[in-house]
Amino acid sequence: MNQVIADGHLIGNHTFNHLRGWKTENELYHENFLKCETWINQHQGAIRGQKPKFRPPHGRIKKAQAKNILTSHEIVMWDVLTGDFSQNLSPETVLQKSIQYTESGSIVVFHDSIKANRNMSYALPRYLAHFKEKGFEFRSLV
Ligand SMILES: [Zn+2]
Repeated sequence: MNQVIADGHLIGNHTFNHLRGWKTENELYHENFLKCETWINQHQGAIRGQKPKFRPPHGRIKKAQAKNILTSHEIVMWDVLTGDFSQNLSPETVLQKSIQYTESGSIVVFHDSIKANRNMSYALPRYLAHFKEKGFEFRSLV
């Protein structure tokens, strides 16, 4: 994480324990969100963006949970889910599908988890090279 901060990446909240909103009591969900906020705030130099960002784990959240979070954060979703976490997809399929569904302005989800490592390690560098060659730029959220 320190390297991520040192490299100037924007850091967003994703809950502390990757909770499934629809299976979690609202109060517990918000406490876990705040626990993540505290952790991020303790890491000096973490870039939060003009308005801090929150991405709900699994892309789902209850309305009441979102309402709480929206008082301080922007909720960010994505339009390209690479599927890098899937053991049923080959690294080449992850790469080709990610390229196929990306367009200018896309928000693309790759994961740095152990589960996704095989596919992500193959697909991400090739994905970046592909779009760099086509003249695309990659930007952090603001
Ligand atoms: Zn997640």
